[in-house]
Amino acid sequence: MAKRDYYEVLEISKSASEEEIKKAYRKMAIKYHPDKNPGDKAAEEKFKEAAEAYEVLSDAKKKAQYDRFGHAGMGGAAGGGFGGQGMNMEDIFSQFGSIFGDDSPFGNMFGGGGGGQRRMRKGSDLRIKLKLNLEEVANGVEKKIKVKRHVTCKSCSGNGAKNGTELSTCQTCGGAGQVRRVQQTMLGQMVTTSPCPTCNGEGKQVKTRCEACFGEGRVLEEEIIPIKIPAGVADSMQLSMSGKGNVPPRGGVAGDLLIVIEEEPDELLHRDGTNVIYDLHLNFADAALGTSVEVPTIGGKARITIEPGTQSGKILRLKGKGIRELNGYGVGDELIHVNLWTPKNLTKEETEMLEKMRDSANFQPKPNKNDKNFFEKMKDFFN
Ligand SMILES: [Zn+2]
Ligand SMILES: [Zn+2]
Repeated sequence: MAKRDYYEVLEISKSASEEEIKKAYRKMAIKYHPDKNPGDKAAEEKFKEAAEAYEVLSDAKKKAQYDRFGHAGMGGAAGGGFGGQGMNMEDIFSQFGSIFGDDSPFGNMFGGGGGGQRRMRKGSDLRIKLKLNLEEVANGVEKKIKVKRHVTCKSCSGNGAKNGTELSTCQTCGGAGQVRRVQQTMLGQMVTTSPCPTCNGEGKQVKTRCEACFGEGRVLEEEIIPIKIPAGVADSMQLSMSGKGNVPPRGGVAGDLLIVIEEEPDELLHRDGTNVIYDLHLNFADAALGTSVEVPTIGGKARITIEPGTQSGKILRLKGKGIRELNGYGVGDELIHVNLWTPKNLTKEETEMLEKMRDSANFQPKPNKNDKNFFEKMKDFFN
């Protein structure tokens, strides 16, 4: 693969100052950082490309060589530690300390900075959306989801060294992970220790990089992950599976897999908390004479009795036919809201029949003063 021009990579001119080069790289590093682009191989390549460009252009000697000879001048010793394979993530992150200083937008998670022992690094989280229908929400469901995530490289078991060979002992610190300095002072001998700059305190170094993962210690893999969704989840709720996110480069703890629930609206049933509501439309004759009708329930049907003289606006309840409480024992109900259907475009015969009934004493509305109004009824149901 032909390398792009380093100035082009950082989107700067050949006359850019040291400060401009640094600024341009900061911008690129933030834009293409793996944490912001989990699982995005193209972004990762851009991220590495920018780091490599910065590595050269920020070094006066290497920059002069590059300016004269281009990429050809970067082979061999002059190219530093990134022959044909580019820089590995570890190198890049350890570079951050000097570029971002204390206000690194990525916190301390990469440990590159320098003080004290290296902390256990955690990989980035993965986030996926999962669509569920009402039945799945109500009863819970087991799903198999396909995710692409960084997993530990099998060839090197994650240490980044060729064929998983032992890492060699760091030559700077002799494997201690620390460097000691002994000074003679007026008060006698003084010993100071600091983390080894070569191995970042690990005490070990990769000699030959693993070819399967280019020394990164991890590879991108597609995985089918079974997940159990509990009953009662709601839209935009987030479930997390720890350890199912990305493994960080060269060892550490995997991030989490975050599953964001997306509830598909049901055509017939409207969800309200743990209850579901169904709008039933009855014709006037059925409401007056009484009947039995079939109503949809979550994942099924139920037959309900309509008493003679059922009023429009009445709410019928199917107990326990709602949604299970998340992490609880309660179950909601199905509430059936009765609506009377008023016919339109009547035939002559129908019109005559209705006109006969119009004046009958039984057809005159007689609302009971003690009846609760609509709002009171709703309050009863939802509180
Ligand atoms: Zn490997
Ligand atoms: Zn060392």
